[in-house]
Amino acid sequence: MAKKEFKAESKRLLEMMINSIYTQREIFLRELISNASDAIDKIYYKALADDNLVFNKEDYYIKVTADKESRTLTIADTGIGMTQEELENNLGIIANSGSFAFKKDNEAKDGHNIIGQFGVGFYSAFMVADDVTVISKALGSEQAFKWESQGADGYTIEPCEKDTVGTEITLKIKENTEDDNYDEFLEEFRLKSVIKKYSDFIRFPIKMDITGR
Ligand code: ADP
Ligand code: MG
Repeated sequence: MAKKEFKAESKRLLEMMINSIYTQREIFLRELISNASDAIDKIYYKALADDNLVFNKEDYYIKVTADKESRTLTIADTGIGMTQEELENNLGIIANSGSFAFKKDNEAKDGHNIIGQFGVGFYSAFMVADDVTVISKALGSEQAFKWESQGADGYTIEPCEKDTVGTEITLKIKENTEDDNYDEFLEEFRLKSVIKKYSDFIRFPIKMDITGR
């Protein structure tokens, strides 16, 4: 499968983000949960306007799953999902989103300010993961697609199986190094406290399932 190239500027942004934002690494979870919540909101608002679409509250939730054996952390939602085209457009163009309107004269000395001023969004996942897989099935689509990337050098997209509408983002959590601990992002206690800290206001249930030791 041929890899598609990120644009040069995007590459730089991604590298900058991954390499400079150390202090607040945990915010990746806030970003992914907020995207999941936005995706459920989109179904909610669609249902308000469309009599054929019923929004059953209990069908809409976010689920965080960690597996220590495989070092994977998955954030799944039952939101609106993405088509192949949306995967390309939303995840293939870094800084495409309104929240990452990075201006040169606002350039911060450290990552903290960047995060304070702009949502770093989906790509913050690469602060803790060396591989990110997004499996998504859009509302109204028959076919699901899988987007996968190891970071700045590009991504692949291919058709895949997924029964239900929504998105599943799986992070292959980095190995610990002498200086950096990533294992913590597979620990229930740590994940819970990060969720409490940043995502307490999310209006859909956040379920959790931790396996392995
Ligand atoms: P922002 O949320 O500010 O738009 P992000 O980088 O966080 O920027 O996300 C980029 C886009 O990718 C979102 O606007 C949305 O269209 C899409 N996206 C990301 N995560 C999801 C998800 N879980 N479900 C549906 N769409 C998503
Ligand atoms: Mg976002």
